[in-house]
Amino acid sequence: MPERQALDLDRYRRQLLDIKSQLEADLANCLEREQLIEGGPEEPGPGQHWEHSGYGDHLADEATEMFEKEKSVGLEMTLRQHLRQVDHALARIEHGTYGTCESCGRPIAKERLDALPEATLCIDCKAQDEREAPMSRRYWPGVSS
Ligand SMILES: [Zn+2]
Repeated sequence: MPERQALDLDRYRRQLLDIKSQLEADLANCLEREQLIEGGPEEPGPGQHWEHSGYGDHLADEATEMFEKEKSVGLEMTLRQHLRQVDHALARIEHGTYGTCESCGRPIAKERLDALPEATLCIDCKAQDEREAPMSRRYWPGVSS
């Protein structure tokens, strides 16, 4: 085992598993809602929705539905991304690399891990990452609440 700060891995693992089950529950709710909006389990991919014709009378409903659907899909993507991050952190615990920055290899501050157990980048690399690719904010188009 390489030298690194002493971390209570069991505690982080428990926290991550808690987060994971919460995310999975949220994701299940989200998918259920999408199916309700869609009106069935068969769903076309994003962008194919408007190709349905013959619903002219329901255009307003369609627009609302579309908006709700987009919000839900945005949330779903955020949840899935977060879930991947949590799984990734759990895998790093198993591999003994948890708590080390994936980018620069330095230890991630314990305070950061306490606040964000799924973090795999130190605060400096995370800040740099967000400057270069502020993707995470794009999952919330026009949603401020
Ligand atoms: Zn780093």
